[in-house]
Amino acid sequence: MKHSSLIPWFATHRRPLPWRTERGLLRDPWQTLVSEVMSQQTRLEVVVPRFSLWMELFPTPRHLADAREEEVLAAWAGLGYYSRARNLHKASQAIARFGWPTTFEGLLALPGLGPYTAAAIGSLAMGMQVPMVDGNVQRVLSRVHAMGLDPRTGQGAVRLLSLAKDWIQGHDAGEVNEATMELGALVCKPRNPSCGECPLAEACRACAQGNPEGFPPPRARKEVVVIRCQVLVVAHSGRILLRKARESELLAGLWILPSEGEDPSLLATEERFGLVRHSITHHKVVWDVAGGIWRGGALPEGWRWHAWEELATVVVSSLLRKALERARVLPEGPLRAKKNNTNPFDPPMET
Ligand code: SF4
Repeated sequence: MKHSSLIPWFATHRRPLPWRTERGLLRDPWQTLVSEVMSQQTRLEVVVPRFSLWMELFPTPRHLADAREEEVLAAWAGLGYYSRARNLHKASQAIARFGWPTTFEGLLALPGLGPYTAAAIGSLAMGMQVPMVDGNVQRVLSRVHAMGLDPRTGQGAVRLLSLAKDWIQGHDAGEVNEATMELGALVCKPRNPSCGECPLAEACRACAQGNPEGFPPPRARKEVVVIRCQVLVVAHSGRILLRKARESELLAGLWILPSEGEDPSLLATEERFGLVRHSITHHKVVWDVAGGIWRGGALPEGWRWHAWEELATVVVSSLLRKALERARVLPEGPLRAKKNNTNPFDPPMET
């Protein structure tokens, strides 16, 4: 039997996680969706406590569907990559309205779900025979088969998917998927895999070749894209002028500093505070922070004067926090425990 070593190993070594059920039982699809979305690009130690808090707030898709976006983003604060929260919100609205899809294609059609997350819900919570291919599975299968192709490229991905389909063939897909991912996380690690403790060691070609770390081949480095712009700090009477980043922007949905030229009433002053930087995936955002003045008039849509204490309750990026610290305008409070500076600005204000 193909997995006569892997499955018993998993039965002994599987970590107890709040979204996992007893062996042999299907999981809850909502818990599976939330845990998978949270675990993308976030460490498990961070996800576990946040998952439980999230489930207290939004125990079903209906609870999340009925929440306002501000509440959803505030509950997500600190997990980063807020587009995940927005997509989860949209997916919950679709599920609350139409119910859970019953096919893999239907799951794939939910907002924000790619093949991996759809396969997670399908195989772990609905009993579908579909393979899950994440970084752990890529690594384990690349090594077991000593696959020379890079699974992150088109041709390599096709080959790996074919291997992954074959890997689950004739078995409970959910269990094999989970066991393979667990093996990748605990034993077949990117560096120094513990081949001596691995249930697949006898069948593993990379191990036989004495070169497990050679698979998969190293990823070609992605070029860093630098996005640079001047932003203006307009603060007055304990309030700061911010605008909500548009859907098309990298920090979509977060409150950010406005830039000169975005509205005729907004002007830069002579004040210069310097540069602040923030990396998001392969983007580096560089803000050149300067003083600004608002000449009065109606604020454009999506712009707002925020009281300092309000900043602790809305979703701001760490880039904004860095810029306000650089400009030395943040008073004592939840966002910063530093000296209360004299506000250098005194522009006329329109609310
Ligand atoms: S034998 Fe080593 S390289 Fe092969 S799957 Fe196991 S841990 Fe990974």
